[in-house]
Amino acid sequence: MNNSTYDVVVVGAGVFGAWTAFQLQRTGKRVILIDAHGPGHSRSSSGGESRIIRMGYGADEIYTRWAQRSLQLWRDLFTRIDQPLFCQTGVLWLAHEVDPYPDQSADTLRKLKISFEKLTTTEVSRRYPQIGLGGISAAMLEPESGVLLARRAVEALVKEAIKSGVEYLQEAVKAPIGQGSLNEITCTSGQRISAGQYVFACGPWLPRMFPNQLANRIQPTRQEVFFFGTSAGRGFAPPALPTWIDFKDEVYGLPDLEGRGIKIAIDRHGPPFDPDSGNRIATTEGLAEVRRCLARRLPELKDAPVTETRVCQYENTSNGDFLVDLHPELDNVWLVGGGSGHGFKHGPVVGEYVSARVAGSNEGIEPRFSLETKMREQQRTVF
Ligand SMILES: Cc1cc2nc3c(=O)[nH]c(=O)nc-3n(C[C@H](O)[C@H](O)[C@H](O)COP(=O)(O)OP(=O)(O)OC[C@H]3O[C@@H](n4cnc5c(N)ncnc54)[C@H](O)[C@@H]3O)c2cc1C
Repeated sequence: MNNSTYDVVVVGAGVFGAWTAFQLQRTGKRVILIDAHGPGHSRSSSGGESRIIRMGYGADEIYTRWAQRSLQLWRDLFTRIDQPLFCQTGVLWLAHEVDPYPDQSADTLRKLKISFEKLTTTEVSRRYPQIGLGGISAAMLEPESGVLLARRAVEALVKEAIKSGVEYLQEAVKAPIGQGSLNEITCTSGQRISAGQYVFACGPWLPRMFPNQLANRIQPTRQEVFFFGTSAGRGFAPPALPTWIDFKDEVYGLPDLEGRGIKIAIDRHGPPFDPDSGNRIATTEGLAEVRRCLARRLPELKDAPVTETRVCQYENTSNGDFLVDLHPELDNVWLVGGGSGHGFKHGPVVGEYVSARVAGSNEGIEPRFSLETKMREQQRTVF
C-alpha cells in the first residue's frame, strides 16, 4: 500500500494529463501521474500516429493563440529531448466558393502576425499537381504548421516528465465520490493515494468517471482513419504534398510520413462509441466514402491500396470547446477534457492553463471552458 501524499494527482496520461503533470512539476509541485494503460495507448484519443497542428480556427482567436504558443512549446520539448516528432509539412486550407472559414482564419492569422499565403487555384495546381481542385475556388497555406507524431510525442513527454521528477503509476483509478474535499483516490488494486488537488484528464472515459456531471456533456464518437499506399517516389511525401484540409467537405489528409502512406479521414462526428469495448475495425461504408474523397482530392490514388486503418474516438463537448473546470461538488477536483477532435495540438497550453488554475491563479476560468457552458445536446461550432 502506498499512502504517499502529493501536491497533485493527475489521472490520465493522454496529451492533456501528461502536459498538465509536466507543467505542474515545473512549477515545483510534487506530482503523480496515473494511467490505466500507459501514455498514448491504442484506445486513448492521443494514441494515433499523427495529429495536425494548424493555426487557423476561423474567428476563434483563443484557439489560434493557444495553437501558436503550443507549437512553440512542442518544439522546445522536441529540441530538449532531441527527437524530431514535429513534421513541418505546411497545412493547406482548400476553400470552396461559399466557405467563410479560411477567410476568417486568414484575418486572425494576420492579426496575430502568423505567416500564411493565399493561393489561387492556378498556384495550387502548379505547386501541388497531385491535388484535385473540384469545387475549390482558392486556398490558404500555413507554411509553419504541420503534424505532431502523436503517440510517440506523448510517450516521450511522459518519459521527460518522469526524468524531471513526476512519479508515474500504471493503475486504474476508481471514480471518486462524495462532497467537499477529496481526501484520497483508490486504485482498482486497492492502492490509495492522497493529494491536495486532483486533476482528472480521462479523455473519453470522463463521462464514465463522472456520470452525474458529464453524461452526454462529453460524447465519445467513433472516427475512422485510413492510410493508402502511394506510387513509388516521394510525390506524396512532404514537401511535395502538404497536409490539407477541405473544411466544407469535412475531410482532411496528411502526406506520406515515415512510409505509412497518405492518411485521410472524415471529420464529421461518427456514431456514439465505447472507448473500452467499441469495435475498432473500419467499415466498408467508411472506406467507400473516403475513397470518393480520395478520387476527388488525390485522383492519382483513387485505386490505391489500403495500408492501414484505425478507429479512434473524439470526446466531444456540445460545441467543441474544451472542458477545464472544478468539479461542482468536490472543491479540489479538476475536470479536464473535451478535446473534441482538435485538442491534441493544444496539450502544452492546456497543461499551462490547468497548472495555473491549480496553483490558484486569480484569473478564474475562461467561460468557454466552464462546465456550465457544456450542454447535453450537440451543436458544434468549434472545429
Ligand atoms: C481520429 C482522430 C483524429 C484527430 N485529429 C486531431 C488533429 O489532427 N489535431 C488535433 O489537435 N487533435 C486531433 N484529435 C483530437 C485529439 O487527439 C484529442 O482531443 C486528444 O488526444 C485528447 O487527449 P486526452 O488526454 O483528453 O485523452 P486521452 O488521450 O484519451 O487520454 C485519457 C487517458 O486517461 C486514462 N484513463 C481514463 N480513465 C482512467 C482511470 N479510471 N484510471 C486511470 N487512467 C484512466 C486513459 O487510459 C487514457 O490514457 C483527433 C482525435 C481523433 C480520434
